[in-house]
Amino acid sequence: MDPAPPSDPGGTTPGDDRPTGGAPPRTTLSFYRYERLSDPTLLRDTLHADWSVLGVLGRTYLAREGINAQVSVPSENLSAFRDAVDAVPEFAGVPWKIALEENGSAFRKLTIKVKPKLVADGLSDGAFDPGDVGEHLDAATFNRKMEEGALVIDMRNNYESAIGHFEGAYLPKADTFRDAINEVAAMLRDRSTCIVDPLNRPNAAPDVLLYCTGGIRCEKASAYLKHEGFTNVGQLHGGIIDYVRQVRAQGRASRFKGRNFVFDDRLSERITDDLLGTCVQCGQATDRIANCMEESCNLLLVQCPACAAQYADCCSPSCQEIHLLPAAHQREWRKGRITRSTITKAITDAETHQELIREQEAALAINGTLHPELMDITLKPM
Ligand SMILES: [Zn+2]
Ligand SMILES: [Zn+2]
Repeated sequence: MDPAPPSDPGGTTPGDDRPTGGAPPRTTLSFYRYERLSDPTLLRDTLHADWSVLGVLGRTYLAREGINAQVSVPSENLSAFRDAVDAVPEFAGVPWKIALEENGSAFRKLTIKVKPKLVADGLSDGAFDPGDVGEHLDAATFNRKMEEGALVIDMRNNYESAIGHFEGAYLPKADTFRDAINEVAAMLRDRSTCIVDPLNRPNAAPDVLLYCTGGIRCEKASAYLKHEGFTNVGQLHGGIIDYVRQVRAQGRASRFKGRNFVFDDRLSERITDDLLGTCVQCGQATDRIANCMEESCNLLLVQCPACAAQYADCCSPSCQEIHLLPAAHQREWRKGRITRSTITKAITDAETHQELIREQEAALAINGTLHPELMDITLKPM
């Protein structure tokens, strides 16, 4: 297969705690490779032991189909880490991508998990040939094809594209990869029925250009779209991360605007100064993305600093009321509740959300609480 582009994951819930001062400098990097692994569980134990010694933190997924890693390495151990990665024959020479912005606090621990698949794509293996991927394009070619009128499609989730994306890109509304890929296929089918080629060529549909964070999702998405009959499918090799590195090295302007969503505690990296996001609470332009601080909620939302202050870093008055309780009361209230963000990841429908906030504020004004059930808890001695 092609040299593996870098990494991006199937999703995770970033946290909020940042280590404070004094820590040695670290480098955040990512890599992935589709490569048959005979015993991912055994390999997990080996990697965990070897990487722990080097002080590696981060989140890595292993599956029978390969590895997808986001890690933070003490900078002084980078070459030792390179040796450790290369020592596994299946990973030897895998190219990695170093984060564009570094603040040294991307991860708090080392997690290596064995999963059925590297990306939770929801597509059934065997239904299409995952090896028949779209053409890998470098930044210059991607830009040229954009200028020639190719249709650019963002293969990330809606909350990722909300704070940054390529100019003019189609942004799926879906919030899972599976739904996004179906939405894209349906949209392309609609468009291609509108195109009449005077020469009646079978491949008259315009070029389609896919991109994601590090390239891994486009491997699956491009193979799926080709299987669905779309022949002119290209994908940004190495994803946004490598695109930005290339255009910066070439001294050219990035056509990706705003912030790049990332899957560690940093949440995003700035690419250009453009403000693409809108606060889901008040509608102001902002590209600040955060998790609701109420632990049983934890949903991602684009939230301006003023709203963050007004709602105590929470998504709603309801979460705010819980979040501001003494810790013991919060724990008691959370018993037996499922974390919302395990069901859905983000709040993206601003209109519905603002309506919810208005309703909650009205109820709060009348009743003084949105959680009458708290009476039982707050009266108990803790
Ligand atoms: Zn706001
Ligand atoms: Zn919340």
